[in-house]
Amino acid sequence: MTLHMPFDNSYARLPERFYARLDPTPVAEPRLLKLNARLAADLGLDPEALARPEGVAMLAGNLVPAEAEPLAQAYAGHQFGGWVPQLGDGRAILLGEVVAPPGSPLAGRRFDLQLKGAGRTPFSRMGDGRAWLGPVLREYLVSEAMHALGIPTTRALAAVATGEWVLREDRLPGAVLTRVAASHIRVGTFQFFAARQDREALRLLTDHALARHYPHRVGDPVPALALLEETVAAQARLVALWMGVGFIHGVMNTDNTAVSGETIDYGPCAFMDSYHPATVFSSIDSFGRYAYANQPQIAVWNMAQLASALLPLIDADEARAVERATEAVHAFAPAYEAAWLDVFGRKIGLAEAGEADAPLIQDLLSAMADNRADFTRTFRALSSLPEATGADGPAADGPARDGFLDPAAFDSWASRWRARLAREPGGWAARQAIMRAANPALIPRNHRIEEAIRAALAGDLGPFERLDRALARPWEERPEDADLRRPPAEDEAVRRTFCGT
Ligand code: AMP
Ligand code: MG
Repeated sequence: MTLHMPFDNSYARLPERFYARLDPTPVAEPRLLKLNARLAADLGLDPEALARPEGVAMLAGNLVPAEAEPLAQAYAGHQFGGWVPQLGDGRAILLGEVVAPPGSPLAGRRFDLQLKGAGRTPFSRMGDGRAWLGPVLREYLVSEAMHALGIPTTRALAAVATGEWVLREDRLPGAVLTRVAASHIRVGTFQFFAARQDREALRLLTDHALARHYPHRVGDPVPALALLEETVAAQARLVALWMGVGFIHGVMNTDNTAVSGETIDYGPCAFMDSYHPATVFSSIDSFGRYAYANQPQIAVWNMAQLASALLPLIDADEARAVERATEAVHAFAPAYEAAWLDVFGRKIGLAEAGEADAPLIQDLLSAMADNRADFTRTFRALSSLPEATGADGPAADGPARDGFLDPAAFDSWASRWRARLAREPGGWAARQAIMRAANPALIPRNHRIEEAIRAALAGDLGPFERLDRALARPWEERPEDADLRRPPAEDEAVRRTFCGT
């Protein structure tokens, strides 16, 4: 069998100490669960060929196309603040890279194709190198939903069942996810070489990452500083976008932070239902290090780790290097605040929010937290409220206020909000259009994801397919998806998520 893939593998041309070359471990009985035909086509791959037996065999790791140069990447990282000198792809194998062809919406962009759950590697430590169906379907749904929400993210090309069991707390069906990413270069990749004082590798990795993600900065007199500045800006924007949809990553370790600025590693992540800044889902995050409201601070901490790994390349004079790197990391706060104001300003209907508008936004969030209001539903409802409540009084604000334990808490905010919007140019319809484009109607709610996984475990992919289809159009309020938009009832809410490795 042959399957030709248009791979062009730039990472595999880096020195051997960047990775371990090895093939995926074949699985018993590959079966295609889901193919992202649209993404395949955008990448210049033939969806029909991928769905045929040899295509599925490749997506399972059973067939390695001639042009592939499979490898497991080396990296290190801080996990929950603790240093781990060697992590690396313990259950993922990079098959190769493709460049999207002319005419594609992704034209000219380079992407990694990585199999997650492809078997043991030299970096597996105690792990089995495998993944089970639940986390594979979860990553598929959530990463594709993030993309549809316009947030930079790795994508999902396919999910394949392996026909093998994996042992976790229980015996569970195995699966492999094909992940597509601008790259899998992490803060931890730089830390891996910094810890080994391998300056040559740091330099090569910096040049590689800069050319790949920030080509406009190639030729900069200090490439490492340019890379740091761009990564800081990309992460500030990314985290502000997460905050705007109530997303909690859950494991913002430095090995799960991509220098491309894409969201990567969907483990115990979740979107909030009712709003509270201290919300944590991950079962292993006992101290709330990665709680919703901590995410910007943690991103800064991660950027400081990148800065410290890059120090030797920033300036030969150490004090000077520290000074310049510190300045670059400090740029996170103003960049984040500006992005946050932009994101949340639009959510309440302001085309250009100023600093003076921050209290209005914060006061809504505080009222939502005090009143357990649903994050997505409350913001979305704003776009359907009338310009004035009129004869009905506050009842006209029902879609928003009814979600508050004490609806009057919304009313006092709403009168300030209307007064502020009255000072904006353009009419009410223009304000509503801004809000509708900034407040998704549909997010991947946790209880729906878990429901889809439960059904898949029982052999029914229907709920997964339905959720995936609906999540591709998060801005629309289609009547047939009303149940998917509804917040969970008390007994439906899922408050804990698991790493699910
Ligand atoms: P993660 O929590 O997914 O970011 O993974 C952290 C580290 O553990 C990475 O080095 C992974 O490759 C490794 N790892 C996670 N699950 C497994 C597994 N089932 N087998 C081998 N290595 C794993
Ligand atoms: Mg990881």
